[in-house]
Parts: sequence; structure tokens; C-alpha cells
Amino acid sequence: MHSLPKHIGIAWKLVSDFNQINSLFKAQELPYKIITHVCSCRAVHVQIVQQDAIRYSDYYVCEQCLNGTFYSANDFLSHGAWYAPITSTFSTEVLLNLSPQITVDAEHQQIHFTVCMPIPCSVDLVREKPIYYYKPLFEVSISAKGIYEHKLHTNFNLPSHYKALGNDHFYEKLSHEELIKQCDVIQVYTSKLLTYLKADNVLSIKKVKTQCTSVKEFAFFLSYPHLEEYEFLQWESPELLPRDKNLTIMDALSYTINYRSEKSLKKSPVCLL
Ligand SMILES: [Zn+2]
Repeated sequence: MHSLPKHIGIAWKLVSDFNQINSLFKAQELPYKIITHVCSCRAVHVQIVQQDAIRYSDYYVCEQCLNGTFYSANDFLSHGAWYAPITSTFSTEVLLNLSPQITVDAEHQQIHFTVCMPIPCSVDLVREKPIYYYKPLFEVSISAKGIYEHKLHTNFNLPSHYKALGNDHFYEKLSHEELIKQCDVIQVYTSKLLTYLKADNVLSIKKVKTQCTSVKEFAFFLSYPHLEEYEFLQWESPELLPRDKNLTIMDALSYTINYRSEKSLKKSPVCLL
């Protein structure tokens, strides 16, 4: 696992309760709020204000870059702000700047991929450093059995499940996967995952991984690491092939022919009776 970047070009304002933050005044309840501005230029400004003076903090302007627009971290730390489509709340540039967190379990041949948004949720008062919560937005997991699942944790403004077919009032129901394909941001996240998977050396797939054109194809070969050719994607019942050795298409064909003739040979005496 690797650490994720915190600065993704969003300017945040966080209002914290002074009494909730680690401070020297733990024993007393004090009527103060802490206002932290984390600008998109990376400048951090921390103010301690009296509770009744909090409205004045709305007029803060960053001294370094003169930015005066900040997203409310408090709103995004609760559920309310996530109903609107994320693609209209944040710029595409910001969304594409998010670095995925990828964990590969070599022992169980599993992959977990999460795209998160860092949101300031507290502040280290002594160092004047924001502390971040990573809100998951999009998640993919692939298991050694080839099960490929994706979860959306926010509104990506996907189109309707129903697509009109001509003018005849007939509709085609689209699968979740087909809808996801229509979201450009998710497609970029998925292609980042595929690029990572192709470069990975921990998983058991070796020969065909560079030919895979989708995560789904990669998931197939993760469940059949002994199949050495890309064309096995078209094989009708790969689960019937032996798993004790690596196979090319030629090996698989010859196994199938021998297996079938063996089977018919075994059957023939029965047929004669
Ligand atoms: Zn700034």
C-alpha cells in the first residue's frame, strides 16, 4: 500500500469545535471554534474564533493567491453534499487528479482498488497541519476466482438504466457495467487500474497480461493463470480444462480431443451391450 496525496487542487474550509481537538485545555469547555482554510495553493491558515464571531470567517481570502472560494469540508464530511452529481460539483481536472489506492494480496491473488477524495476533518493545532479523511468514491475488487466487482460510493451522474430504441416506445435495459462505460471519469479510473495491473509482478498472470484490454479480461486470467494465450477468452468452458499445468491453445485442443475419444472409448462397450 502507498500513501495518498492530500493536495488535489481543492480549497477547503473546515470549522472544528475547539473542545474536540487535542489541546492543552482539555479540562475546560471553551466557547471557541477553530477555522482551518486549506487553499488550493497549499497555504494553510488556522484561526481560533469565538463561537459568535464565526460568521466573519466567510470573508477569508488566501494571502498567497487571493482565492476567496472554499468548499465546506463540514458539508462533504456529512452525507448531504454528496447527492448532487460529483461531476458537476468538482472539475474533471480535480477528479482525474485523485490517486487510487491499490492493494495487492499476493497470497490470495486479490486486488483492491479505491479512488478516494481527501477531505480535511481535523487539525493538528501545534503544527497547524490539517488531518484528512479519505472519502471513498469508486471501488473495484478482483478475486482469485475472477470475480470482478465495482461499487460507486457517490453520484457519478450515470445515464438512465433504460435506453430508448428508435421511436417505438421500446426500451433496452442497460447493465450496470454498460452504464459505467458511459462515464468518462470512471473510465479513466479503470484504465489507471488496468495500467497498474499490466505492470504488476506480484500476481500470477505473466504472459497474457499485456494483451488484456479490460479489467474484466484481466480478472478472467487471474482465475485461470495457467492459460497462456489471450484467445482463451473465447474458449467455451475453460473450467473443464486441467489446472495442473500451463496450457497453450494447442495443448487445450489436444487435451479436449483425447479426452473426448477416451470418453467415447469408455462408452463403446456399454453401447455394444
Ligand atoms: Zn491560496
